[in-house]
Amino acid sequence: MQGKAHTRASRAGKHTCGDSALRQTGRRTSRPGGRLAGVTLVVQKFGGTSVADADRIRAVADHIARTRRTGTSVIVVVSAMGKTTDGLIRLAEDVSRVRPGRELDMLLTAGERISMSLLCMALAELGVPAASFTGSQAGIITDTTHTKARILEVKGDRLRESLAQGVVPVVAGFQGVSSARDVTTLGRGGSDTTAVALAAALEADLCEIYTDVSGVFTADPRVVPTAHRIPRISFEEMLEIAATGGKVLALRSVEFARNHHVPLHVRSSFTWEPGTVVSEEDSSMEQPIVSSVTSDSTEAKVTITGVPDQPGIAASVFRGLADRAINVDVIVQNTSHHGTTDISFTVPRSDLEGSLEVAEQLVPRLGAVSVIADDDVATVSLVGAGMRTHPGVTATMFETLAVAGINIEMISTSPIRISCLVRAEHAERAVQVLHAAFELGG
Ligand code: ADP
Ligand code: ASP
Ligand code: MG
Repeated sequence: MQGKAHTRASRAGKHTCGDSALRQTGRRTSRPGGRLAGVTLVVQKFGGTSVADADRIRAVADHIARTRRTGTSVIVVVSAMGKTTDGLIRLAEDVSRVRPGRELDMLLTAGERISMSLLCMALAELGVPAASFTGSQAGIITDTTHTKARILEVKGDRLRESLAQGVVPVVAGFQGVSSARDVTTLGRGGSDTTAVALAAALEADLCEIYTDVSGVFTADPRVVPTAHRIPRISFEEMLEIAATGGKVLALRSVEFARNHHVPLHVRSSFTWEPGTVVSEEDSSMEQPIVSSVTSDSTEAKVTITGVPDQPGIAASVFRGLADRAINVDVIVQNTSHHGTTDISFTVPRSDLEGSLEVAEQLVPRLGAVSVIADDDVATVSLVGAGMRTHPGVTATMFETLAVAGINIEMISTSPIRISCLVRAEHAERAVQVLHAAFELGG
């Protein structure tokens, strides 16, 4: 084991600590020096695949040690090893049909505890002083919405103390402590949000997100092998990509980064090459008509049929969902011919049960007919800032799907995005034909 670690530590890897990305963002000039005067501070976040086994953990420790040797201070955020979180969820499902959010959160936070402590041990072997911190110890204060808590405040005092003592803080991602002093989690993929929140609170110059692909691509490279890496992208486009299923960054982390002006660098922990810089748009940035094609199979469709076409009906449906913290995505209300209408909307699949309860309770009160659930759907989206000024993207999208024999069930748009709801079985093919139709192949 020791021999292997030594070989890795002495390999001549092409490591860059993100300075080039930093210069491109220009953030250093807008917030000189960060909190540690004269020293660049970087948050480095390592996802599940990046810390999946002992070798990977040692490779990550090696990279952190190298970054420190360049004079850069580092705060580390880790995810749970490999598919640990999925495994813990399955275990909970095997144990009980009733899984209170508080207990699920307590269980899931264990995953990140394992990786943070192991990484500190690997750093210790390299002679790098490091200390692990749970979300609570790091001062990440959230609301009380278990399994998808929102960060209210980041105290970070212990991390600042640790940095001041030259000790690398290694923080468990995806978790915090609520205002009611219970352990919470931030929703799947939430370690990205932890990393950006810490970067904002500790005024780091950059947040590096290390993952298993070399950046943000024109489509999920697992679905479209010809997809290519986008070297720079604006927060605006990245928000749409994250919101429509491009899970390389969690949506909330991008929102946080945009609101707090934290530049992100998404890159590979396997090749360590420069990846994708996500930052504020600047005039030198190219504005492709379509930057990326995404798909999301994590949503379900709910339809309430025979709803009286009267003011206030839609409001009561969506108030009921909002009161349960359920995010509604696409909404379609059919035109009424006979005084009744159908309301369809999509929600995260994990909220389908809760949404059905809300809808079914409302049926008698509203005088509606029935509630239909459909979890065999997916959304396929095109994202591109250039869409604003280029008409015809929608037409090409619809024509492409029609030629492929893929039926569109619902449509929603933003100024820089078009999304279509299709049968789940068609989602991958839809992404592939759209990627080809818009000539995004690298
Ligand atoms: P981590 O565990 O490091 O957080 P994730 O699995 O959450 O990693 O995110 C990385 C994955 O995101 C990639 O393996 C890739 O399959 C997927 N992905 C989806 N869309 C994109 C995209 N547009 N660009 C890059 N990766 C994407
Ligand atoms: N381990 C958590 C998850 O799998 C958080 C993360 O990886 O970002 O969702
Ligand atoms: Mg992730």
